[in-house]
Amino acid sequence: MSNKPENLTLITDDGLRLDGRRADEIRPMKIEVGVLSRADGSCYLEWGRNKILVGVFGPREAHPRRSQRADSAVIRYRYNMASFSVEDRARPGPSRRSIEISKVSREAFEPVIMAELFPKTAIDIFVEVLQADAGTRTAAINASSIALADAGIPMKGLITSCAFGKVDGKIVLDLNKEEDNYGEADFPVAMTQDGEITLIQMDGNLTPDEIKQGLELVKKGCKEILEIQQAVLRKKFETPVEEVSEEA
Ligand code: ADP
Repeated sequence: MSNKPENLTLITDDGLRLDGRRADEIRPMKIEVGVLSRADGSCYLEWGRNKILVGVFGPREAHPRRSQRADSAVIRYRYNMASFSVEDRARPGPSRRSIEISKVSREAFEPVIMAELFPKTAIDIFVEVLQADAGTRTAAINASSIALADAGIPMKGLITSCAFGKVDGKIVLDLNKEEDNYGEADFPVAMTQDGEITLIQMDGNLTPDEIKQGLELVKKGCKEILEIQQAVLRKKFETPVEEVSEEA
């Protein structure tokens, strides 16, 4: 969030944003599942200009041994930005930002992953941001959800994530880079498919009414994303009718 150049209009009088979207529209999303042969589950996701690759490994014996939990699996989430993913080269290695994103994203999944089924093991979620254009943590959570399902990790449901923000004084869904840079607030959210919130963060200032309005938008956005996620997984896992009848 930085000072907006005076002549820059992010939303026209007709309510259109710089990329042509209306306030309540998400950027186009494309998902491929099972793209990494060495991972137990994987997903490649494009959302607007964001490009995210996720590999899931496990449940597998947790190392080092002292990290094991006798009563459940440990869930580890590593968010990493490739140095070429942003305009000015991102410094390789963990940063305060990536450590924070990894922590809140792991916590976003903990309520749905049935870790108690796999004592002493680890479930590793590796996120590589290949191209960043605002909203990478939400994009990574959407991709991780698919990769976890692809890995066959038992979950109570999928996690879906989307941000809202305030731009030119208006509440809008899913900020793009210009809106993230010059907007007044950014508010990422993740939720279960029943609408239970598992991640909430806020950068900037919003009134309680604006948050209420934004959460309504996010619910709509997450519903659309869930439908995309479910369609991708259905396509991957549904057994074609012919195969069933052949085996019978
Ligand atoms: P998110 O990507 O989840 O929206 P931020 O709000 O922290 O997370 O970042 C917004 C955007 O700023 C990122 O998507 C990326 O385009 C850009 N960005 C983040 N970190 C860096 C960095 N180290 N160097 C350059 N650009 C960055």
